[in-house]
Amino acid sequence: MLDAHGREIDYIRISLIDRCNLRCVYCMPEEGFTLTAREELLTYGEIEKICRMMADMGLKKIKLTGGEPLVRRNLSELVRRLKKIPGIEKVTLTTNAVLLAQHMEELSEAGIDSINISLDTLDRKLYQEITRRDRILDVKKGLQAALRHPEISLKINCVPMGLPGQDLVEIAQLAQNNKLHVRFIEMMPIGYGKNFRFTGEAEIIEKLEQKFGKAEIFTGRLGNGPCHYYDFEGFQGKIGFISAISHKFCDKCNRVRLTSQGFLKTCLQYNIGNDLKKPLRAGASEEELKNLIADTIAAKPIGHRFLESDIADENNLNMSQIGG
Ligand code: SAM
Ligand code: SF4
Repeated sequence: MLDAHGREIDYIRISLIDRCNLRCVYCMPEEGFTLTAREELLTYGEIEKICRMMADMGLKKIKLTGGEPLVRRNLSELVRRLKKIPGIEKVTLTTNAVLLAQHMEELSEAGIDSINISLDTLDRKLYQEITRRDRILDVKKGLQAALRHPEISLKINCVPMGLPGQDLVEIAQLAQNNKLHVRFIEMMPIGYGKNFRFTGEAEIIEKLEQKFGKAEIFTGRLGNGPCHYYDFEGFQGKIGFISAISHKFCDKCNRVRLTSQGFLKTCLQYNIGNDLKKPLRAGASEEELKNLIADTIAAKPIGHRFLESDIADENNLNMSQIGG
């Protein structure tokens, strides 16, 4: 699947549901949010069908996200079905881990390849302030359950918010003491994220080097995308950065997104894409759907323009609807 700028698209992030059991301040409002009716969500059968067609066209990796994907019933059944699709090399999950402990065994049996846990702080009070819910103990149980499966690659995703009390050294230490990677993700000015500033990579590296000594740039390849990694002496895992604003990586973008309502979205910033659900439910042929997918991907924008203040923000979705 090539776009008009010569980028090969082999990765899709699928938002399964826009509901969530947390209310992170940069992602969702506490209330007053219209949630998608169940019948408007793509069914697992429809998701599988879209992925099968895209796998024929070159799709290799699928990330399941949300909202909170573990809020959707029987997630491991979907994982099992997606893993069977010829051409799909990896099915992975991004979760807040509140419900992970109770689903870890079935996810492992279903063949999940990798799990990303979103965790911005280990401090109970600050966690509650950021997520508006007191669930850190469940998250820690989820993390421990995941660590009992060393065959599943594990990453912690942390969004540094520049809050007093958000101890990034403590988060980084998770990669020192456990077999997992920690990644710091720059806040994107999308939805509620616009209300927060991001902490830059240089500032974080400086803080970590003060504590752990010199960081070595990791030159190998790890994961599906734009994260670049550093090694610290004595660490079991690596420290990564996804810096979409300060280190723009659109020229290497390999991904598209599918919203829970079936909109194939080709760039985080814009509403450019096409609805797949309507033609799918209207009985469009596989050839028609594949043509629609190919046309949608061909029209993928060249890149985001978040830093250009004269560009109107066309995106009317929040991260919980897009999937991050
Ligand atoms: N609920 C799951 C979770 O939190 O991992 C999956 C969905 S969540 C939208 C996916 C990722 O997007 C999380 O790691 C979250 O921290 C991140 N995210 C949400 N809003 C963001 C923003 N404005 N900028 C950067 N990352 C954001
Ligand atoms: Fe929920 Fe994830 Fe958004 Fe937090 S970041 S509100 S956990 S969807």
